[in-house]
Amino acid sequence: MTACSRIAAMIAFALRGQPVAATAAAKRRALDVAEGLARLYPDAECALRYSSPLELLVAVILSAQCTDERVNIVTRDLFRRYRTAADYANAPLEELEQVIRSTGFYRNKAKNIQGCCRALVEKHGGQVPNTLAELVALDGVGRKTANVVLGTAFGIPSGVVVDTHVTRLSNRLGLTKHKSDAVKIEHDLAALLPPEEWINFSHRLIWHGRRVCVARKPRCEACGLAEICPKIGVVKKSPPPKVAAAKSGVTSYGAAKTKKSMPKKKSKALAGKGSRR
Ligand code: SF4
Repeated sequence: MTACSRIAAMIAFALRGQPVAATAAAKRRALDVAEGLARLYPDAECALRYSSPLELLVAVILSAQCTDERVNIVTRDLFRRYRTAADYANAPLEELEQVIRSTGFYRNKAKNIQGCCRALVEKHGGQVPNTLAELVALDGVGRKTANVVLGTAFGIPSGVVVDTHVTRLSNRLGLTKHKSDAVKIEHDLAALLPPEEWINFSHRLIWHGRRVCVARKPRCEACGLAEICPKIGVVKKSPPPKVAAAKSGVTSYGAAKTKKSMPKKKSKALAGKGSRR
């Protein structure tokens, strides 16, 4: 075990059941993670295709419970048909539903996109606003969507985007103790990292979650953050029986097999020999 791994193990032990307070040491660790991610993914960016804040807003609404790849396929046609907020607002709902159908939950998504775009037309001159308060007031727009739009389309670090990957990795890396509450996780990350890190940190963590620190079997052995990661909640695979036995100095066949394999007669004979002595 290297010195770094020892430190990571000590951190994992110390963090068990403890809140992640924004101490100087915790902030240093979070920065180490941010720097490591920057080295691994210097060019990480939003995987959704868009050419305007409106397109990004629509794409993020569509991405709920759907892959970015599928959204990018659907938006190719969608963005050709509807170019302005008014186009979405005035489109027949059934037509919009059919275009986005393959992203799932299409009825809800179509309703939200249309409601959102009507508000853009009525209250914002057809433009996407650039404040968190105005964005989260729109149909279908929560903190995550608002943070993506503000950070990615406007370059405004309004918060840290917390999706399923950021949730999982923040826990494994010991940057939060909250298992699933996205707002609390965002609060923890924002307290540990300076605002200038927030936008890229989210993109890079999402990339890492897709490529290496995947949900079921994180590839810790190939991970560029392994030396500084406490791997909280990562279940270690138990070694195969032979290896376990070899380590404990017992053969994999064990004592029971030795007993079984000893012929009864011979056992008696041996017992007899012994008694005769
Ligand atoms: S893959 Fe393993 S070492 Fe890397 S960040 Fe995930 S849990 Fe940590």
